[in-house]
Parts: sequence; C-alpha cells; structure tokens
Amino acid sequence: MRLLTCKQFLQELNDYLDETLDPKMRADLQRHVEECPNCWVVCDTTQKTLRVFKGMEAQPIPGEIHSRLMAALEKRMRDDPRSLCRRKTEV
Ligand SMILES: [Zn+2]
Repeated sequence: MRLLTCKQFLQELNDYLDETLDPKMRADLQRHVEECPNCWVVCDTTQKTLRVFKGMEAQPIPGEIHSRLMAALEKRMRDDPRSLCRRKTEV
C-alpha cells in the first residue's frame, strides 16, 4: 500500500471532487486527505469554491482554479519544507 504525494493528490483533486474517479483511486485520495493537513485544507477550500461556482451556473470547473491551487501549494512547500508531506512514497 502506498500513499500519494501531495502533487499526485492535487493532480487528481478535480476528478475527486467531481466524483468521476474509479473507487480505488478515490480511496487512495481519501486516505491522503485524511492524513495530510495541507491537502485537507486545499480540498476543503476547493470544495467550498466549487459549491459556489455550481450554485451560480452549471459549468465545468475552471482549470484556472486548479492551477492556482497547485501553484499556491508548491510555493508553500518551497517556503516551508517542513510542510512537505514526505511519507514513505516516492518524492
Ligand atoms: Zn498532501
């Protein structure tokens, strides 16, 4: 059993929130978000953002939101390496 890296998690985040992922992948993401406070916050924030978007108009998730979150998290990791969730996975 392996845990996803934050980067992998974020790459799948859109699909995870869209519930288009297959159950196995979903379970992997779920496990990551439960153990990683950083990704939990990102996931929670994105979820709330999406709810607002979906309430306004039925449109696909703007890719811009996703890339902005990615950039923010990558910056945060650079600024504070301790926040990196470097578990027993590949980096
Ligand atoms: Zn993470």
